[in-house]
Amino acid sequence: MAKINILPGGVLDVPSNPTVPFIKGDGVGPEVTSAMQAILDAAVQKTYSGERKIEWMEVLAGGKAFEEEGTYLPDATMQAFKEYHVGIKGPLMTPVGGGIRSLNVALRQGLDLYVCLRPVRWFKGVESPVKHPEKVDMVIFRENTEDIYAGIEWENGTPEAEKFFAFLRDEMGVTKVRFPETSSFGVKPVSKEGSERLVRAACRYALDHGRPSVTLVHKGNIMKFTEGGFKKWGYALAEAEFGDAIKEGKLVIKDCICDAFLQNALLKPEDYSVIATLNLNGDYVSDMLAAQVGGIGIAPGANINYSTGNAIFEATHGTAPDIAGKDIVNPCSNLLSGVMLLEHFGWQEAADLINAALEKSFAEGYATNDLARLMSNGKPLGTKAFTEHIVNIINA
Ligand code: NAD
Repeated sequence: MAKINILPGGVLDVPSNPTVPFIKGDGVGPEVTSAMQAILDAAVQKTYSGERKIEWMEVLAGGKAFEEEGTYLPDATMQAFKEYHVGIKGPLMTPVGGGIRSLNVALRQGLDLYVCLRPVRWFKGVESPVKHPEKVDMVIFRENTEDIYAGIEWENGTPEAEKFFAFLRDEMGVTKVRFPETSSFGVKPVSKEGSERLVRAACRYALDHGRPSVTLVHKGNIMKFTEGGFKKWGYALAEAEFGDAIKEGKLVIKDCICDAFLQNALLKPEDYSVIATLNLNGDYVSDMLAAQVGGIGIAPGANINYSTGNAIFEATHGTAPDIAGKDIVNPCSNLLSGVMLLEHFGWQEAADLINAALEKSFAEGYATNDLARLMSNGKPLGTKAFTEHIVNIINA
């Protein structure tokens, strides 16, 4: 059991055999997890000839945790993620009934994973609804802890909603609620610190990865103090901390109003590289861009705190109960989140090897049925056969 050390500034000191806690997940989770582990292990073995190896350590969450421990998210799981700093998870069912609203949100909040990182790129051979998917190459930094997603809301007709409206009317002089009797209310907190740490992470990433620009995507024209604050604080932070890089032309900071961005990202995606945005915008933008590269089912994601170094990598699709256990699920979302984990470790050569194997496989039409059926040269493979195919390319 070897632990990752976090050096000052959130820099990772990764041993050659790091322990990585993993959650198999519900539904198709166990299938995509086995595939991801087999392919990561093969790539690490091939790249480092046995000198590096991931030590997998299963931790529980979701349905399996409930069956075995009577709770959806055992304390030991949170503790393991804190202790080992990184983890990877398959999709988790959303518990029905009280307690936890969403296990994913509980993990993000419990570990203060303030960046939701979503790289979006196209793999040759994958069918896309746009003419030039190869022009889409963006990395989205979505703020993960604030905004209207903070979960501060009251349903219409409840005493809380009435009390909240009375406060707005009587204490704050608000007269603009159109139908107060039947309104539900939500609160959108957006802070200077929260905006700054997100934009800082995006700028650092852009410089570290040789990406030319960071675009602040916001709706500051309408929500002046929340979305507008994000833009103002973002520009100021970039100027204060990355001013030299900006002057030297290594980094361009720009902004775009979210509705215009959704148009532009379709019409001239090549203008954008790193995107920094708030929680709700980020939710829409991530799925729209993933769809553009035909990859909504294979889009990976990670939730990261760049100060503590804590990170959880995850498949972005759900538990797909309709296809669970049928050996047809596409494991690529979980697999590519594993590739992000390798990159987070600085094991770029192993990550590149997997990307190259996927490129070759898709270009030749070998994919799981969800992708293969849309390819002109498609040759559908089951989940296990596809995994074996990728491992064989890696070992060739
Ligand atoms: P879903 O993503 O599970 O499924 C939507 C459709 O896409 C289904 O037809 C499914 O078969 C298909 N699909 C999904 N992933 C696929 C893959 N990798 N390969 C091939 N086909 C795939 O969404 P849902 O049905 O709305 O949600 C099911 C459960 O998952 C719910 O309990 C939901 O709360 C949960 N969920 C979890 C996460 C997460 O853990 N990150 C994300 C979304 C939904």
